[in-house]
Amino acid sequence: MNVLVINAGSSSLKYQLINMENEDVIAKGLAERIGIEDSMLTHQPGNGEKVEIMAEFKDHTDAIKMVIDALINPEYGVISDMSEIGAVGHRVVHGGEKFSESAVINEEVMQAIEANVELAPLHNPANIMGIKACKKVMPGTPMVAVFDTAFHQSMPEKAFLYAVPYSDYEDYGVRRYGFHGTSHKFVSRRAAKLMDASYQDLKIITCHLGNGSSIAAVKNGKSVDTSMGFTPLEGLPMGTRCGNVDPAIITYLAEKKNITAAEVINYLNKESGVLGISGISSDFRDLEKAKDEGNKRAKLALDVFSYDVKKYIGAYAAAMSGVDCIVFTAGIGENSPLVRSYACAGLEFLGIKLDEAKNEQHIGKEGEISTSDSKVKVFVIPTNEELMIARETLELVS
Ligand code: AMP
Repeated sequence: MNVLVINAGSSSLKYQLINMENEDVIAKGLAERIGIEDSMLTHQPGNGEKVEIMAEFKDHTDAIKMVIDALINPEYGVISDMSEIGAVGHRVVHGGEKFSESAVINEEVMQAIEANVELAPLHNPANIMGIKACKKVMPGTPMVAVFDTAFHQSMPEKAFLYAVPYSDYEDYGVRRYGFHGTSHKFVSRRAAKLMDASYQDLKIITCHLGNGSSIAAVKNGKSVDTSMGFTPLEGLPMGTRCGNVDPAIITYLAEKKNITAAEVINYLNKESGVLGISGISSDFRDLEKAKDEGNKRAKLALDVFSYDVKKYIGAYAAAMSGVDCIVFTAGIGENSPLVRSYACAGLEFLGIKLDEAKNEQHIGKEGEISTSDSKVKVFVIPTNEELMIARETLELVS
């Protein structure tokens, strides 16, 4: 069966068509500037050349129609008919407490996703638009929602509760939800395969380090803690997000800068993180280059980030009473030997020994980067959220 994976943003829509017999990507692409002038679709069949198609998408339905047209186009298409799409898997950011698993989309599931809009006002509305558009264009095709939060629903209360009055959890849903769940699940499962061990027996720390970064503690196949919280602002410092700060800073900055609390939150989301510290860039490639050229604040930003990764590794090893393996994934985790080296330095007391030569060799490719006598295995595992969504979709519709 072919599964179409959809990741809908407010003005863009990414897609992949995956043949689940062999898990090959048959085609992928991106519809951009939906509802804005100069909208366009970039479509890539298999390993073929990219095709750029200019067309007006006034909404997500137009964009989906264009995606289907591209998939069945006689010249650069990859299927002959829409009926060759067996199911659609949608990435949905927030499943709240309702979803600890992916779900086949029906009326009740749609209502639950809509009820979570207030928890993810920037993301869920776009995901809903993507689902509605697909339902219009492919009314007979089964659809599945795969939630970023679902994998972390196994966290125990002591890990997900904040120390605010319990009624705020009961009345307003104030708690840690965690994000990047699809990625943490994919790479932790893959790590168990690489360890040649049962997923149910392992203690794994997964470090998803990208533009948004989060770390998860995965014990016996379940997420037991994670660094992102009520929103994706908590935890590690990120490209432009501050990560953990003393909440009193919010009103203090609001007064000092004469701005509202909402404006401070926006500032902590968009102007902070490694960009804020370095004053240079949110991109780790730029920071590493600047550090090599002697820029002290770029070095400081890399230090602050890596130090926090290291602290989470220590905390989660303690939370799980041990750790068998550590996984680095996403843009920085897969591609930055420097961050991996900084983050693991000095952790020999936990049984973590990085092989620096292997670490340097593994840029963007899977493999072990710990020494042969390291008690804790350290892996680089490229994440593949689209494939995970397709697998969950197939499982639910089969
Ligand atoms: P992601 O959000 O997973 O796509 O990750 C994006 C981030 O990965 C970028 O902002 C870069 O900072 C980082 N990145 C990508 N390639 C490299 C690289 N070769 N070295 C260091 N960082 C990288």
